[in-house]
Amino acid sequence: MPLTLPLNHPQLLFPSLTITKRRRLRFNIPQAQASTSKQQLTSLNYKQNDRDRSDRVIVIGAGLAGLAAANRLHSQGIPFLLLEASDAVGGRVRTDSVDGFLLDRGFQIFITAYPEAQKLLDYNALNLQKFYSGARIYYNGEFHTVADPLRHFWDSIKSLPNPIGSVFDKLLIGLTRIRVLSKSDEEIFTSTTEVPVIDLLRNIGFSDSIIDRFFRPFFGGIFFDKDLQTTSRLFDFIFKCLGLGDNTIPAQGIGQLPNQLAAKLPSDSILLNTRVVSVDFDEPNVPIVRLDNGEALKTEMGVVLAVEEPEVEKILAGKISRTPVQRKPARSTVCLYFSGNRDEIPVQDPILFLNGSGKGIVNNMFFATNVAPSYGPPDKALMSVSLIGLFENVTDDDLTIQVIQELSDWFGSSMVNSWKHIRTYRIRFAQPNQSPPTDLIKNPKSELGSVYLCGDYMTSATFDGALVSGRRAIDALLRDRALIGV
Ligand SMILES: Cc1cc2nc3c(=O)[nH]c(=O)nc-3n(C[C@H](O)[C@H](O)[C@H](O)COP(=O)(O)OP(=O)(O)OC[C@H]3O[C@@H](n4cnc5c(N)ncnc54)[C@H](O)[C@@H]3O)c2cc1C
Repeated sequence: MPLTLPLNHPQLLFPSLTITKRRRLRFNIPQAQASTSKQQLTSLNYKQNDRDRSDRVIVIGAGLAGLAAANRLHSQGIPFLLLEASDAVGGRVRTDSVDGFLLDRGFQIFITAYPEAQKLLDYNALNLQKFYSGARIYYNGEFHTVADPLRHFWDSIKSLPNPIGSVFDKLLIGLTRIRVLSKSDEEIFTSTTEVPVIDLLRNIGFSDSIIDRFFRPFFGGIFFDKDLQTTSRLFDFIFKCLGLGDNTIPAQGIGQLPNQLAAKLPSDSILLNTRVVSVDFDEPNVPIVRLDNGEALKTEMGVVLAVEEPEVEKILAGKISRTPVQRKPARSTVCLYFSGNRDEIPVQDPILFLNGSGKGIVNNMFFATNVAPSYGPPDKALMSVSLIGLFENVTDDDLTIQVIQELSDWFGSSMVNSWKHIRTYRIRFAQPNQSPPTDLIKNPKSELGSVYLCGDYMTSATFDGALVSGRRAIDALLRDRALIGV
């Protein structure tokens, strides 16, 4: 029987950075984020009289949250300075260019229905490349396609006899879609019936076969949580967005999302390679931002901390009693990239492969150049393979061997053995742990009057959540200063 995937159509089923020699940092939208000489970009380039200004907001961290915050300030005409520890903007959302391949730092999918992203990003300029609306699931030594019947009707008919889910499961997916589409995002994020995803799925009545063969690898891959302990609130939000939009990647890499936001900001407003070590107070409500090179920047306008959850505590060490930091272990992932000849891959479809077998370490993989040919040189294929967890006790070489062995079972050893390993990314802090109980609408005001918090841990651990959190932090700051009536 066909498995109906909730990927699209609400009606389904039921109803380089370049630097001038002057002080300015200027952004060109790079093809992939260029790494630029540290010397060129450190805060040392920043002029003394700029440094002494205290009439601007200081935003710390140029991930999506910090960039959204900076864009909000810019749109309100409020001066600001954005400080970023690393050599480029984007935080967890970056793309490296290696030998003609675009390597996103971990498997990341942009869902076009993300509501905040729709307001902030120019989708046409991103040249979004769509995935097939469905997946191919490896189970019991074979592949089984699951497809959205409204987009791939015949595929879904052909998949009728496959062992991934029952007719009843299909009905439940439709009902789940109706349920989430009938709710506002706020209702979803504040739902009082919050449970782990696994409990939600069982309470709904899904069979173990669809949970283990589809939901576990699919949503486990999204949340980096194979046990499906993540909050049902996040499941509902993602399920809703999947129902309303497409799964895509920008043609020039996921890093184009932050690059586009950075390009809208004044050229001298971002300082890269500038690590903040602490935020202190010599006088009330006038934070002093201390950098790792010993410099201090004062601000009378406020500080917006847009760093990862564990970094907040370090920067505000001992200054806040109410810590926003959860004590649950963060979600981690490993992503391995391989290259091969374009004519030596098993499929040409832009489809996501899921491991529904319950065995092995591979969770999901896809042929990136099938989705976006620009991810590799013309004759080459790029394979992206994702694991859940960090595999700290396994060397990169051993992981590569294991992955190749597993994929040989999937696609045949003669083909897979010809693939060449390009790079392995181990991402310890991929997402904050958002298992219940959660607060996905945290108050951005810290107890330190003029310090505001944003980042995905304040909202939902998604691109969209990070963007929303940046806007909210600035709105709180502006409200406090009576600069806008929000
Ligand atoms: C592999 C992977 C896959 C993902 N897939 C998806 C997906 O498919 N869909 C989705 O919606 N979300 C996905 N996410 C989650 C999403 O990427 C994050 O939720 C979001 O990007 C977080 O943005 P942020 O701005 O809150 O934090 P970050 O991106 O972590 O930004 C924080 C920034 O602060 C900087 N910083 C830290 N400390 C300091 C300091 N002391 N001084 C100055 N700067 C500092 C960091 O360098 C960084 O640039 C994925 C994440 C990962 C890692």
